[in-house]
Amino acid sequence: MRRRDLDFFKKLLTHRLEELLMEAEKTKHTVKGAEELSSDPIDQASDQLDRDFLLRLRDRESKLMAKIKGSLEKIENGTFGVCEECGEAISLKRLRARPMATLCIDCKHEQEASEKKNNLEIPIEVSRLWTHG
Ligand SMILES: [Zn+2]
Repeated sequence: MRRRDLDFFKKLLTHRLEELLMEAEKTKHTVKGAEELSSDPIDQASDQLDRDFLLRLRDRESKLMAKIKGSLEKIENGTFGVCEECGEAISLKRLRARPMATLCIDCKHEQEASEKKNNLEIPIEVSRLWTHG
């Protein structure tokens, strides 16, 4: 990949990471605030819901942050934009849409296809368990 493209993605990812860090900081304060507010049971229940939502959000944020950090590391060590599966270059078009992509479009499709296949196999496993139980 050209230096200019790498710089573009580095800026893009760094900016996204900073945004997420700011969001995470806000979420942390909100969660802390929810802990302090617990006067009557109904409020407590809704506080709990809010907190679950925020914790899930934070979980998702931290996973996303890990992905972005991973991509930034790849830029540093020169493996950014290389498919982890087949070693081919991931297209710039795909990277512009999904800068954290680690698979080329072909490998991604293959992964999705096998995930779908696995999902279809689950009910069979479940029914087998049921007949045994
Ligand atoms: Zn690939």
